[in-house]
Amino acid sequence: MHQPVKKVVIAGGGTAGWMAAAAVGKVLGKTLDITLVESDEIGTVGVGEATIPTILTLHEVLKIKEQDFLTAVQGTFKLGISFENWRDVGEDYIHSFGFTGKDHWAAGFQHFWLKGQQLGMVKEYGEYCAEWLAAKQNRFAVLPNLTLNYAYHFDSSLYAKFLRGIAEENGVVRREGKIAEVRQNPFNGYISELQLSDGAVIEGDFFIDCTGFRGLLIEQALSAGYDDWTHWLPSDRAVAVQTESVGPPIPYTRAIAHESGWQWRIPLQHRVGNGLVFSSKFWSEDEATEKLLSNVQGAQITDPRVIRFQTGTRRAHWKKNCVAMGLSSGFMEPLESTSIHLIQRSVIRLLQMFPHDGVRTPDVNEFNQQMQFEMDNIRDFIILHYHVTNRRDTPFWRHCASMEIPDSLKHRIELFKQSGRVFKVPTELFGENSWVQVMLGQGLVPEQYHPIVDMMSQEELKSFLEGIKGSVGNMVAQLPEHQQFINHYCSIPTSAVPQSRSA
Ligand SMILES: Cc1cc2nc3c(=O)[nH]c(=O)nc-3n(C[C@H](O)[C@H](O)[C@H](O)COP(=O)(O)OP(=O)(O)OC[C@H]3O[C@@H](n4cnc5c(N)ncnc54)[C@H](O)[C@@H]3O)c2cc1C
Repeated sequence: MHQPVKKVVIAGGGTAGWMAAAAVGKVLGKTLDITLVESDEIGTVGVGEATIPTILTLHEVLKIKEQDFLTAVQGTFKLGISFENWRDVGEDYIHSFGFTGKDHWAAGFQHFWLKGQQLGMVKEYGEYCAEWLAAKQNRFAVLPNLTLNYAYHFDSSLYAKFLRGIAEENGVVRREGKIAEVRQNPFNGYISELQLSDGAVIEGDFFIDCTGFRGLLIEQALSAGYDDWTHWLPSDRAVAVQTESVGPPIPYTRAIAHESGWQWRIPLQHRVGNGLVFSSKFWSEDEATEKLLSNVQGAQITDPRVIRFQTGTRRAHWKKNCVAMGLSSGFMEPLESTSIHLIQRSVIRLLQMFPHDGVRTPDVNEFNQQMQFEMDNIRDFIILHYHVTNRRDTPFWRHCASMEIPDSLKHRIELFKQSGRVFKVPTELFGENSWVQVMLGQGLVPEQYHPIVDMMSQEELKSFLEGIKGSVGNMVAQLPEHQQFINHYCSIPTSAVPQSRSA
């Protein structure tokens, strides 16, 4: 028998918990009784500050006013990610959020650029993309007649606080307390209530597990299982530290590869978030911490903190009357800033398949299939950065270059290498232009371009390429500096900067 869902309990109040609370509250709050339990004693993971453009969709659902949001979270704009030392030491490229050049329906812009390159007409692939050029020139604006594809950098604890405001406005009740026991119905194994360590009991019809890596409900109670992907993505540790800003924030995230890992630098209005992701097989925690601290700019605001993780995915994201979101559902390292996106996808999916009259198996199966498909595609995209590289300078990079990779990724690499072609699987996150930017950026050179390019004479090709480059240049020249735009759009005086509680 199906039990209608009236009471929803969200376990955990990190980014995942409050995203779920804000969205479920906003969309279905009037029909549900929603409680969120979080424990100040346990705290949140305290990282996760770079996003991708899909976050704007969630903010539209939540009717968030961008200026208010950016002011509250000390946010900056992000046009892409700069990958430094990935193809080889001393070589950089940017994976931008924009479109590059102009495609022909039969052949992507990369084919035109490849011929241009063979003829010595072009330099960087990104020069034909406004977001790439704006990032390079440190410019940004949100203008009515000029649309850039962008995302945000924000302070994660301020973001959770901001979302909490929206959730509470929509009737979500916050309960501070430590969950001591997850109780299940002895007949069907459904979760029935959470027992808190202060003795209180929180009953629910449906539970959202946002308890972080521990997966208190989905794993510890429901034993959903976990697929380990460490053999494809070897990093299993991060060390994080916050520093003072030493200059105006740049409109992109930096991902700087080192000998056995890579370092992120996320510029916010009031500070910089830094961290180093690494594999414990190749670096000790002390070595990684030393590497990070010798590569940050600005005075340290926090002590370095090591975070351990296992890359992989929960075998079921939705099991019985529980959906896992955020770190409890699995984790892929933050190289392409995809975790917050995945939380958002889980929230939107749950809202689309909300079990108001009881949990039904087809919904559960559909939800799990869609999550898995999306995670597999993101996984392949991240592996690409490690595997396709000219770096052979350390055991870590030699390992990455020679490791086995999924067949799905092998196919994409071979397709691009032999023909310059890339095809997006419908509903996958990363589009053709992302794959092309990263494959070229990592040093993969296609053996040929599409013959349709030869329909243009060399003069026509030159004028086609120069025309795009010229209009991209003119468009970006109209933009103010990133900092100047922030000052005008969403900054607050330093004395009024809200206190972050993340470490
Ligand atoms: C090193 C690193 C860098 C990252 N960088 C990015 C990035 O740049 N971009 C991105 O999109 N994502 C990033 N992520 C992922 C991102 O941080 C997470 O997806 C996001 O913060 C969501 O975390 P969470 O809410 O699932 O878990 P957490 O933040 O760990 O929150 C867990 C919550 O559960 C509560 N809880 C746990 N146990 C109990 C209990 N027994 N009783 C009561 N409450 C309990 C805690 O109090 C807390 O509120 C990164 C992750 C890591 C590890």
